[in-house]
Amino acid sequence: MKFEAIPRETVLLDPGNDMAPKNIPNEIRKDPLTGKTARICHFRELKWKKPDLDKLVAGTESWCPFCPDKVLKVTPCFPGDILPEGRMTLANKVLFPNIAPYDRLSAVATLGNRHYIPLTDIEPRRIADGFRLALKYFRHLDEIKHPESVYHLISWNYMPASGSSIIHPHLQVFATSFAPNMLREKLQAAKIYMAENKTNYWDDLVTAEIKNRDRFLGKIGRTTWLSVFAPVGSVGDVIATADSVQSTLELTDEDLFDLATGMTKLMAAYDRMGIYNFNMSFFAGSQKDDHARFHLIFSPRIYFNPSIGTPDVASLGRLFGESVCMGFPEEINKVLKTEF
Ligand SMILES: [Zn+2]
Repeated sequence: MKFEAIPRETVLLDPGNDMAPKNIPNEIRKDPLTGKTARICHFRELKWKKPDLDKLVAGTESWCPFCPDKVLKVTPCFPGDILPEGRMTLANKVLFPNIAPYDRLSAVATLGNRHYIPLTDIEPRRIADGFRLALKYFRHLDEIKHPESVYHLISWNYMPASGSSIIHPHLQVFATSFAPNMLREKLQAAKIYMAENKTNYWDDLVTAEIKNRDRFLGKIGRTTWLSVFAPVGSVGDVIATADSVQSTLELTDEDLFDLATGMTKLMAAYDRMGIYNFNMSFFAGSQKDDHARFHLIFSPRIYFNPSIGTPDVASLGRLFGESVCMGFPEEINKVLKTEF
C-alpha cells in the first residue's frame, strides 16, 4: 500500500513582517486506491466559534414537515406495488419517499420526534434505529426483487453547512442500480486492485493503517475507524470499514449499533473543535462484489467565513474535484483519538 505525499513549499514576502521572505509548506496527497489528489494547506488552528444554535433553529419547527404533528400528513407515500402500507416506521422514526426524488427509489427517514438535537445529544441508539429502518426498507426491496435493489446507500446531511435544508435530523436512503460517481470509481479501482493483488483493497488498508498507527482510531466490534490519508473534507474525513461485509444488506443490528457508536465518538470530538455540521455516506458494493468492502465516510463541514456564510467548497473543489484539508490528517487524528 503506497501512501504518496508530495511536499511543496511557497515562498512569499510577508506583509506582516516588513516583506521578509516567508516559507509556507503544503502537501499534495494521492489516495492509495483512486489516485485522486487532496491538498493539505491553508493551515489554521482547528478551532471554530459556534454561533448561537438555539437562535439559528428558533422557529424552524413551525414549518418542519418531519415534526410528529405533520410527518404523517404532509410526507408522500409509496405506491402499492412498492410498499402497500405507504410508509415504514420503527421507534418513532418514519421512512417515506423523497418528495424531490433523484432516483426511482430515493427515500427519507426521520430520526425520531425531536426537531433539533445538538450534536452531542444524538444517542447511538437513535442513529442505529434509523439505520435499522433503512435496512428494513432495503431488505423489503430485495425481497420484492426490485431492479433498483443493487446498491443500498444511506447518507446523512446534518445542519445547514452540510447541504441540509431541514434542521430535523433525517437520513437520505436510496437503492439504485446506478452507483454515484465516487462509489463507482472506488469499486472500479478496487476491482482492478483485486485482479492485480488477489486481495481486497480495504482489508489491506486496515492492515496497513493498524501497523502505521498514526491514522488508526480504533476498532468497535467488526468496524475499524481510520483517518483518511487524502481526505475530501476540509477538516479531514474518517472511514469506518466493516470486516467481511460487502453490501449494506449484510450488516447486522450489532454492526449498525457499532457504526452509530463510532459516529457519536466523532461527533463528540468535532464538537469540541466547534464543528456542528457533517456529511456521512455509506459506500457499499452489490452482493456480488467480492472486491467491495462496506465502509462509511464521515466528513465534517465548516464555513470558511461564517460571518458571510462562505461554504468550505469553492471552485477548486466544486469544478476541479480537488479537495483542501486545513490540517494534517495525522494531527486531526490525535484530537479524535481521545474519544476512542
Ligand atoms: Zn421538525
